[in-house]
Amino acid sequence: MILILGSNVDEQSAEYKQLLVHLATLQGIQTRVHIERGSEQSLTEIYLIGNTKALDLADMQTLPCVERVVRVSEEYRVLGRHKDEQRETHFEYNGVRFGQDTLHVFAGLCAVDNREHVEIMMKAVRDSGQVCTRMGAYKPRTSPYAFQGHGKNCLPYVFELAGKYDIKVIAMEITHESHLNEILEALHQTGNPTGVMLQIGTRNTQNFELLKIVGRQTEMPILLKRGFGITLDESLNAAEYLASEGNRKVIFGLRGMKTNMGDPHRNFIDFAHVPVVKRLTRMPVCIDPSHSVGSRATDPDGILDMMHVTAQGVLAGANMVLVDFHPQPPKALVDGPQAMLLSELPYFLEDVQIAREAYLKRVALRRCQG
Ligand code: PEP
Ligand code: MN
Repeated sequence: MILILGSNVDEQSAEYKQLLVHLATLQGIQTRVHIERGSEQSLTEIYLIGNTKALDLADMQTLPCVERVVRVSEEYRVLGRHKDEQRETHFEYNGVRFGQDTLHVFAGLCAVDNREHVEIMMKAVRDSGQVCTRMGAYKPRTSPYAFQGHGKNCLPYVFELAGKYDIKVIAMEITHESHLNEILEALHQTGNPTGVMLQIGTRNTQNFELLKIVGRQTEMPILLKRGFGITLDESLNAAEYLASEGNRKVIFGLRGMKTNMGDPHRNFIDFAHVPVVKRLTRMPVCIDPSHSVGSRATDPDGILDMMHVTAQGVLAGANMVLVDFHPQPPKALVDGPQAMLLSELPYFLEDVQIAREAYLKRVALRRCQG
């Protein structure tokens, strides 16, 4: 059960203290307070955990400070959609709104290789009117002998250049808790010129200790990739780990599933699950055409498979596209063969726009049906 309090509740007020005292008297019920501090108002929610079936909804509604009471199903308590509730399906970070109703393209480098390529990439992103990008500094690789990313050494120039080109949010994978501090330190040292969306990759979807640590910081949003060999339910529970620790600025990333039945694509495309995740949870949903398709194969019309699956995901309501580009793919240190060319960026964005408009038309058509 969730008690949603009126906005801007004063934690020092007598009413609030009275509420907490009352909740403490409930047998077998534990409470967890979550405060979401926005620029204009703060929202307080109190999660009641335990035998909440015994509690009467109407009684709880009359408690001091309580505006609304939501009875939640056991699943995905924080991030799930529950019966009759109207909790937010969006959040804001560094001036950018991410929601189940928005769409952002994060075109960028799979892995940062050098300053020059970062600058060329960011300039192209800015010139095409975008404010988000992807930049991999910590790369989890199959082979221990493969390039592992430049790590913290590249962060200062990546962040400075992001500031120079008005990039507001960089999606960046982290694989260890120490990376979190390195990112925060580099952002601080460079004067916070940009924002970072922490990415948990598919190999770490169920790294619960990492999830807990990342979830405890509530400043930066998190892109959680679906685990490539586990059920959707298991991956959604992984997202819930982040939220249960306090961070609910979570985006769920579909990136394909590992199985030979997906051949000839690198992974079996799972973008049909975009509406499923939006139905089950309040998370915006990201699709990653690069890591799911993994090649520049095209159809007889010359359209890349990556662009087809992007269009399919966007047509189904995706809210974010994470996609690998590179100024010189043959020179890329990671995933060159699947990188799109910078000259293709405006074309890619236009193609995405066609699919987005078609999606919005589909929503409008459905609304007309009453
Ligand atoms: C990536 O986005 O760079 C990446 C490694 O993705 P995934 O974790 O989905 O393989
Ligand atoms: Mn990659």
